[in-house]
Amino acid sequence: MKILMAASEVEPFSKTGGLADVLGSLPPQLAASGHQLGVVTPLYRSVRLENPSLLFDDLSITLGPDAHTPRVQTVTRHGVTYYFVDYPPFFDREGYYGTASGDYPDNAQRFLLFSKVVIEIARREFLPDVIHCHDWQTGLVPTLLKTAHASDPVLGGVPVVFTIHNLGYQGTFDASMMGPLGLPPGLFTVDGLEFYGRINYLKGGLVFADALTTVSEAYAREIQTKEYGVGLEGLLSWRSNVLTGVLNGVNYKNWDPRSDRLIAANYSADSLEGKRACKRDLLETFGIAGDPGQPVIGMVSRIAAQKGADLVSAAIQDLMAMEISMTVLGSGDAVYVDLYRSLEQRFPGRFVLKVAYDEALAHKIEAGADMFLMPSRYEPCGLNQMYSLRYGTPPVVRATGGLDDTIEPFDAATGKGNGFKFRDYSASALVASVRQALETYANRAAWRQLMKNGMAQDFGWSRAVPKYEKIYRDLVKPADGGSAGVDASGAKTDLLT
Ligand code: ADP
Repeated sequence: MKILMAASEVEPFSKTGGLADVLGSLPPQLAASGHQLGVVTPLYRSVRLENPSLLFDDLSITLGPDAHTPRVQTVTRHGVTYYFVDYPPFFDREGYYGTASGDYPDNAQRFLLFSKVVIEIARREFLPDVIHCHDWQTGLVPTLLKTAHASDPVLGGVPVVFTIHNLGYQGTFDASMMGPLGLPPGLFTVDGLEFYGRINYLKGGLVFADALTTVSEAYAREIQTKEYGVGLEGLLSWRSNVLTGVLNGVNYKNWDPRSDRLIAANYSADSLEGKRACKRDLLETFGIAGDPGQPVIGMVSRIAAQKGADLVSAAIQDLMAMEISMTVLGSGDAVYVDLYRSLEQRFPGRFVLKVAYDEALAHKIEAGADMFLMPSRYEPCGLNQMYSLRYGTPPVVRATGGLDDTIEPFDAATGKGNGFKFRDYSASALVASVRQALETYANRAAWRQLMKNGMAQDFGWSRAVPKYEKIYRDLVKPADGGSAGVDASGAKTDLLT
């Protein structure tokens, strides 16, 4: 199949979170399975391309009254063609979506332009069998394809898959933007982009795509509930017949202690000696004082409400009453960064925070910590818990989304399980779970078994790839079989009237 993907982050070119990891791994995996893959993404200031080719320099994209002239550059790697939307006025900026002081005020224009270029690449160059869009930044691709381009001789009938990596980010904009964006007023209805009086790009993806996926089975169920649905639970329940949960895979080429070049020493389940060196290196790097025999709890995350900083803060007194230290790496929302800084001031040398986006440090924590904490309020999939399993760093997680799907509580009696998990979003539940982990840690034989259980697990892409292939295949009709996505477009007809 010819599969064209679109996303706002693609590893190794750009990354702030798991979206980039997925786009870095899934397309090459699909290409290796014999499909033809294209990936469209913005050319941000920080992206460095080696010998790109100029594909288009004649595009004229209109947003309301304004015409824009983005270029498209391409590079090919690992059997995948990457199309970079090169438009300095929109993408040659310090951040991808904004700065520390907030989102860029023209994100609606930036990602509408991006979506329109995706459509142009599909129409003029790639001619896909299926288009696979990711997150709100691409929500207008299915929206425009299924409305303005519905009868396009090339693109009409091309099915669109839309993946939700995080429902908490929807791309909502003031209704007054409809005119300046040049979006048809008919799209601003409850059956279209309108969401509580605002324009919602993610909702466009959810309404108009032929198939929806999200990144774990648990999250696929959760987002149909009021607690996790962020206002879109009704729409998601209504579309549940086309919604599938597919757990993300891990790229073990980058995340394996046997071959990782970013850690102090390599190690494996059979030879754990190197992990000791990694712990010493971590303690030194973070300046952790005190007994090196004490367990270290690691965290690596975007610092955001989603990731449970408030819970860590509420639990800190009880956590620090135990014989542990914590190493935290993250960057993100100023209010939670400040919260973590205050914890660091209260427990110097024991709770150590590095505010940075630092790939090498993330690897050092995975390898050097004894346990890995993810107390997320919600977690669509989560990658770090799967990385930490492979690094023999058992995770302590809140039972939500992908964390719930991947972590099984360890039972010392049977020797089964790979971590610790708690369900209530409460400091006491978090503390109880950490306490249980520490009790297990004190039993060296049990802990070794726990580490080995996690290290032996395979969360690679080989499970996810066939699931995506099936989703695409079910939508892509044989050449003489008429237009694809018939089921979903039946639903869409209702929506558009
Ligand atoms: P999310 O996508 O919600 O941020 P995931 O667990 O799915 O969370 O993916 C996070 C990815 O980003 C992981 O690869 C993680 O190692 C990486 N990451 C997050 N914060 C940092 C940081 N401060 N420095 C380095 N890597 C980070």
